[in-house]
Amino acid sequence: MEDKHQITVTSPLLPDLDEFHALLKEIWESKWITNNGSFHQRLEQALAEYLKVPYVSLFTNGTLPLITALQALRITGEVITTPYSFVATTHSLWWNGIKPVFVDIDPSTGNIDPERIEAAITPKTTAIMPVHVYGKPCDTIRIQEIADKYGLKVIYDAAHAFGVEVNGESILNAGDMSTLSFHATKVYNTIEGGAMVMHDAKTKKHIDYLKNFGFTGETEVVAPGINSKVDEMRSAYGLLNLRQVDDAIEARRKVAVAYRDALRSVEGITFFDDMPGVRHNYSYFPVFVDKEKYGMTRDELYFKMRESNVLGRRYFYPLISEFSTYRGLPSANPENIPNARRMASSVICLPMHHALTNSDVERIIDTIHK
Ligand SMILES: *Cc1c(COP(=O)(O)O)cnc(C)c1O
Repeated sequence: MEDKHQITVTSPLLPDLDEFHALLKEIWESKWITNNGSFHQRLEQALAEYLKVPYVSLFTNGTLPLITALQALRITGEVITTPYSFVATTHSLWWNGIKPVFVDIDPSTGNIDPERIEAAITPKTTAIMPVHVYGKPCDTIRIQEIADKYGLKVIYDAAHAFGVEVNGESILNAGDMSTLSFHATKVYNTIEGGAMVMHDAKTKKHIDYLKNFGFTGETEVVAPGINSKVDEMRSAYGLLNLRQVDDAIEARRKVAVAYRDALRSVEGITFFDDMPGVRHNYSYFPVFVDKEKYGMTRDELYFKMRESNVLGRRYFYPLISEFSTYRGLPSANPENIPNARRMASSVICLPMHHALTNSDVERIIDTIHK
């Protein structure tokens, strides 16, 4: 019988177990298992170098750096953001008592449309929180122009944008701060984990206090901080994964090339091409289904793929603005966000990870060709 093993949308990048075991042995011998240990410090340093950014602060996931960035910058009132993202983006606002204001996306990228931001600014607006969706860089120059004009902060949810560069510069250097997620499903993972990227030593120090309850010394607490300290095991795991992440991204790139070659001729299926000057990380491969031209709805194709044991994901559907927490907000009105609605109703993210084989990719393409 033909092998029809399940093809999942992602698969975690795992370090070599023997190498990991050797590092665990070191940790056991040192008896230092958390609280800014040596592996934690080494990983922050290694990530700053790899990502080409001045400062990195590790966090236990990708949601807490968003919450902490808003605290650190004392953001209040309203924040302009996108409905086309993972719920953690706006949850971070909600946890800070901030009202999210949804602005529609640019259909050519999936990112917040900078030309619609100004119309959403009110006297209560204090910041913009854009997302580099699928790792595609936002128009950071235009967003900064608007932020400067109105005196707004910019916090990028860069959870998808690990290693993404524009003309050789890290996209993570844009705005006041950027946050990353190192969740198991992401391009680079520390099982659970995340980070904040900042531009100066003073901010780095402040953030390091905030993620450790606000402690600046044995007896001094300077702010109501949170606990988001990363342990030594995850830090060691992260150091090992960093060594193989370039190979993983290259493997993903090959899958993207194969998908594009095979699907370019399929009527009613569209996808993004690489952007000039951008080092992409191929974190996701979204395709968009036009039901008239393709002859099948997005959901019909999605479930047909599942019958063949190919698991895509409808990222991002439903829109954040459709969840009960947010749907009553004026900016969640469907008429305010038509492009986001169209994208959410047509998208399927195809399986995309470093371990997909050629025959997996063929099987996935076949389910769409048929
Ligand atoms: C994954 C993700 C997060 C949250 O990261 P966690 O590490 O799961 O907390 C935030 N924003 C976006 C856009 C994400 O995809």
